[in-house]
Amino acid sequence: ERSHNLSLEEMDRQSVLHPFTHAKDYAAGELGDLRIVTGGSGVTIHDQKGRAYLDGFAGLYCVNVGYGRKEIADAIHAQASQLAYYHAYAMHSNEPTIRLSDRLLRNAPNNMQRVYYGMSGSDANETQAKLVWYYNNVRGKPEKKKIIARQRGYHGASVCSGSMTGLPVFHQAFDLPMERIKHAATPHYYWNARKGESEQEFSKRLAAELDAQIEAEGPETVAAFIGEPVLGTGGIIPPPEGYWAEIQKVLDKHDVLLIADEVVCGFGRTGSYYGSQHYGMKPDLVTIAKGLTSAYVPLSGAMIGEKVWEVLQQGSDQFGPFSHGYTYSAHPLGAAAALANLDILEGEDLTGNARDTGGYLQQRLHETFDGHPLVGEVRGVGLLAALEFVADPASQTAFDPGHKVGAKIAGACLERGLIARALPHGDILGFAPPLSITRAEVDRLVETSKEAVDALT
Ligand code: PLP
Repeated sequence: ERSHNLSLEEMDRQSVLHPFTHAKDYAAGELGDLRIVTGGSGVTIHDQKGRAYLDGFAGLYCVNVGYGRKEIADAIHAQASQLAYYHAYAMHSNEPTIRLSDRLLRNAPNNMQRVYYGMSGSDANETQAKLVWYYNNVRGKPEKKKIIARQRGYHGASVCSGSMTGLPVFHQAFDLPMERIKHAATPHYYWNARKGESEQEFSKRLAAELDAQIEAEGPETVAAFIGEPVLGTGGIIPPPEGYWAEIQKVLDKHDVLLIADEVVCGFGRTGSYYGSQHYGMKPDLVTIAKGLTSAYVPLSGAMIGEKVWEVLQQGSDQFGPFSHGYTYSAHPLGAAAALANLDILEGEDLTGNARDTGGYLQQRLHETFDGHPLVGEVRGVGLLAALEFVADPASQTAFDPGHKVGAKIAGACLERGLIARALPHGDILGFAPPLSITRAEVDRLVETSKEAVDALT
């Protein structure tokens, strides 16, 4: 029997299954305070108790232009009043989708030709996998279907994208059908380089290992490699020097497509418009979401490069109409939000701010945490940064995972009014604030994190 006099907190506890939350403990009321987020402005969010937090992670690194942007709310309202929805199947479209697609393709890396829309990064990566399989079916290579992702790469949580995600917690309890998905090494110089190996040598070795892996699988069975330009949720790990150039050579050698998962890096985060441009990648397929609308409306895209587009057209003769679609593909509200969002991103040069204020963030983090007794590595690029906590930096000894040091430090930040994210692998605190952040706000973010880390020392 449900009572009718529940508080919002009680109603939530009795009704909502939350992502990434201990279901039983939450239902039993053992996880502490629920924060009902009631509003936001700039880099700040507010909760039901009137508490304010500096959001150092832009939601889930998605609210790139910051909270409370009226221009986007107005664009959504205007579009909803005019036409909230019509589908894009078989000879239908809508104006914001047309304008957005043209705009995206003008700025996209490596001469993309078409955009296919979804609602999330996960479904966009499902689309990428299907495009890769379609591509090789049309080319008469039906055995060439494996996709290599990376350990600790993050590509989503749905069936195929969750398999590509290289974090075991995403697989353990679900028996995902992962036969076609393989994982290569994490390009993390700090932990995985050999003694005396330079970054360039480390990159060459990882490329040689990928080459050997493709040979072992059989190059005729390997279709694509998927990677985030900067590995994100698995640790916020910028690639070591030369990494993407070395990987690209191996992919070209074996006729393996490159999917750049730009869900986090796209739209300015690294200080370049796309991470692919930042690192000179030449992707065949590009996945976008998050910063595309700054999450004001869910929208994602699979951008399709020349090689795949050529073959996809040939596929029409063989298979007829491209039989892949979601009710909400090319949703007008998503496109209207994206256009208003890109007006802000470009009009205020937030990519430039990610470079400039991001450079300042990296510098402040290094000044504050290099040599700190709990910090093994300070790393990042643009407005994407991480602190890696270790038990002993000198001997590079990790904490026992049971101590949950990263989560405790994130908790200590939260108590002080700062949201930073404890990433799921190891003891890593991630920062990815809105791209509109100022230097004064960066100072506050760094100083508050220092207090939180010191509180645990
Ligand atoms: N790809 C990357 C790089 C991501 O970081 C994420 C989400 O964090 C996804 C894909 C999945 O996106 P979504 O959560 O919108 O499904």
